[in-house]
Amino acid sequence: MTQQVKRAFKYRFYPTDGQAAELSRTFGCVRLVYNKALEERTRAWYGEQRRVSYVQSSAALTEWKKTGELAFLAEVSSVPLQQALRHLQTAFGYFFAKRAKYPRCKSRKKSRASAEYTRSAFKWRDGQLTLAKMAEPLDIRWSRPLPEGAEPTTVTVSRDSAGRWFVSLLCDDTISPAPATNAAVGLDAGITSLVTLSTGEKVANPKHERRDRARLAKAQRELSRKVKGSANREKARRKVAKVHARIADRRRDFLHKLSTRLVRENQTVVIEDLTVRNLLKNGRLARAISDAAWTDLRMMLEYKCAWYGRELVVIDRWFPSSKLCGTCGTVAAKMPLNVREWTCECGIVHDRDVNAARNILAAGLAASACGDGIRPQRESSRTGRSWVKQETRRATAGIPRL
Ligand SMILES: [Zn+2]
Repeated sequence: MTQQVKRAFKYRFYPTDGQAAELSRTFGCVRLVYNKALEERTRAWYGEQRRVSYVQSSAALTEWKKTGELAFLAEVSSVPLQQALRHLQTAFGYFFAKRAKYPRCKSRKKSRASAEYTRSAFKWRDGQLTLAKMAEPLDIRWSRPLPEGAEPTTVTVSRDSAGRWFVSLLCDDTISPAPATNAAVGLDAGITSLVTLSTGEKVANPKHERRDRARLAKAQRELSRKVKGSANREKARRKVAKVHARIADRRRDFLHKLSTRLVRENQTVVIEDLTVRNLLKNGRLARAISDAAWTDLRMMLEYKCAWYGRELVVIDRWFPSSKLCGTCGTVAAKMPLNVREWTCECGIVHDRDVNAARNILAAGLAASACGDGIRPQRESSRTGRSWVKQETRRATAGIPRL
C-alpha cells in the first residue's frame, strides 16, 4: 500500500545580480504586506473585536497598490504577496483556535527572508525553474534528484542570515511502506553520545561538530569585540551565521540518515518525551545544540514512522529510565548526572545510557500492548494534525526537509 505525500526538496542556488535584486525587492514587499495586514487586523481586533478575513486583506492589498506611496508593490510578482496574506490568515487561524500565540511582525533582522510562489508564478520545464518577473531560470545545484516525474506545486525561495540562497520545491511523491519486521528499539538521549540504542549501540554526535563548535565560540567572541554598527561587525556577524549554518546542515543530514535507518530497521521506535527533561549540564551552547537535535530527530521519526507504516511510542518524561534496574526492577535512590556506570543491588553492572534505553523500550512495548498510563503517539500532540499534513505545512513554510 503506497501513500501519496507532499514532500519538499531544498537546494542551494546562485542568483544573477538581477535575480538577487528582484528577490530582495520581493522579500521586502512580502514583509511589508505581511506587517501592514497584521497591523490592520490588530487594529480591527483590539479596537472593534472584528475579525478581518483573507478576502478583505487581499482587497486592501489591491487598494495599497493604487496609492502613490505603495505603488512599488505592483512591481513585484503578486503571488508571493498573496501567499504572505494566506500565511497570516493561517497564523490567525491558529491563534483563534488557541493553538498559537498572537502573530508577530516580521522583522528585517530576525525573520528569514522568503517568498512563496504557487504554480501560476513559475515555469517548470525540462528540469529548469523560472520564477515570475525573471527571464532566466535559476541556477540550482541539484545536490540530489527530484523523484521521477515529480512536478513542483509550490516553490519557496529564501536567503539565510549567512547570505546563502535556497529554493525549496514542494512535490507530490509516492512512498512505499518499508519491509516488514518485528524489531523494536528504544532510544535514550544524551550529550556525550547523541543517542544510545537499546541494542547497546551508541550513536555519537556528527563528526565535525566538536570542531565546528569551537569555531563558533571563537567567531562569537570576535563578534562581541566589534563596535556596533561597524562594517567589521557585519563581517563578524556573517561569519557566526556561516558557522551556525554549517553545524545545522551537517546535523540535519546526520539526523536524516539516522532516523531513516531506525525507521527502516524497526517496526516500533520508543522515545522519551524530552520537552522539559533536564539534559546534561555541559555548557549552554552544547546543550542548546543537543536539545535542538532532539527536537529535530523526534520530528523526523514522527513523520517517517507515519510514512513507512511504523509505530512511534512516546513515553512519559517522568518514567525513571535511568534509575530503574532493567534486570530486577529495583529503582536506585539517586543517580547523579555524572554517573556513567552503576551497580544494582542485584549485582548487575549497568551502563547508564544502555540501561535507560532498554527501560524505555520495555516501557514503550508495554504501553503499546495495553495503552496503560503511557501514551503511544501517532499524531502530534502539539498540533493535533497528521504528520503528512504537518510535513506539508512545514515544507510550504520553507523549512528544509530531507
Ligand atoms: Zn538490579
